[in-house]
Amino acid sequence: MAKSVDDLAASERAGSPDAADLVRREEQVFGDNPLEVRESDHYTYEYVGGFVEKWDELIDWKKRYASEGSFFIDQLKARGVRSVLDVATGTGFHSVRLLEEGFETVSADGSPQMLAKAFSNGLTYGGHILRVVHADWRWLNRDVHGEYDAIICLGNSFTHLFSERDRRKALAEFYAMLKHDGVLIIDQRNYDAILDNGFSSKHTYYYAGEDVSAEPEYVDEGLARFKYTFPDKSVFYLNMYPLRKNYMRRLMREVGFQRIDTYGDFQETYHDSEPDFFIHVAEKK
Ligand code: SAM
Repeated sequence: MAKSVDDLAASERAGSPDAADLVRREEQVFGDNPLEVRESDHYTYEYVGGFVEKWDELIDWKKRYASEGSFFIDQLKARGVRSVLDVATGTGFHSVRLLEEGFETVSADGSPQMLAKAFSNGLTYGGHILRVVHADWRWLNRDVHGEYDAIICLGNSFTHLFSERDRRKALAEFYAMLKHDGVLIIDQRNYDAILDNGFSSKHTYYYAGEDVSAEPEYVDEGLARFKYTFPDKSVFYLNMYPLRKNYMRRLMREVGFQRIDTYGDFQETYHDSEPDFFIHVAEKK
C-alpha cells in the first residue's frame, strides 16, 4: 500500500510535518519503498532544498529560451491574451518570460521553496517583482482570485497528480478561473513512447543543462520514477504519473474545453513516438 506523506515524514522524524518544516526541508523524502509513493500530495516532499537549487542547472535558462523560442508567447498573442496565471511557476522561467513580454502575470505553485526561488530569480533576471501565490491546483480558487485570459501549466507538471479525481478537480479549477474565451496550455512528457516501447528501450533525456541527465528508473502504468543526475554526481528523483496523450486530451474535453490542439515538441505535425514532449492548447470557447 502507498505510504501517506505523514507516514513518510514520521519515519524520518518524530512528529507530523508542518508548513515551516516543508520550507526548511533539504532532503527529498521517499520512505522505505519509493515505488509505493504514488500520491498527489507528495510533490512538496520532492521539490525541496537541494533539488530546487539544482533545478535551474537542470534547465539552463538561456538554452531553454533558445529551444522553446517564442512558441508559447505566439500562442498567447494570437489569442489576444493579456492576463496569465502560471499555475506551475517552479523557479519562475515562464513567469519571467511572460513579464518581459508585457503580460499581466500571477505566479502560483504549491511548493513554497519553488516560489521563494522564483521570486529571487525574478529580481535576478530583469528586476521583476513576481506576484507569487502559494496554491495547490486542487483548491486554486481558494487562494488565487480573479479570472484570466490564459492559464499555463508547463514543464511536465500535471504529471504530479496521481488520481483521476485530482486531475479532474485541478482541470475544473483551471476551467473556472479562465474567462469565457480563455485558453489553457499544458504540457507533458511523451509517456506513451516510454510505456509502449518498453523499459528496455528507455533512453536518457539530456536537458538543456549540460551533462544533466533524466532517466526513467522504473515505469509501469501507474508510476514513472525518474532519476536526475547532475555533473557533481548528486542524484534526485521524481515520482510521476505517466499520462497518456489521448487520455489527457479526453479529460480536458470532458471537463469542458471545446477545442484541443496537441503539438509535439512545438510542431504541429509529428510522429507519435518521436517527440519528447506534447503541448496541449485547450480553448474554453
Ligand atoms: N513550470 C516550471 C518549469 O517548467 O520549470 C516548473 C515545473 S516543475 C516540474 C513542477 C512544479 O509543479 C513544481 O514547482 C511543483 O511544486 C508544482 N506542483 C506539482 N503539483 C502541484 C499541485 N498539485 N499544486 C500546485 N503546484 C504543483
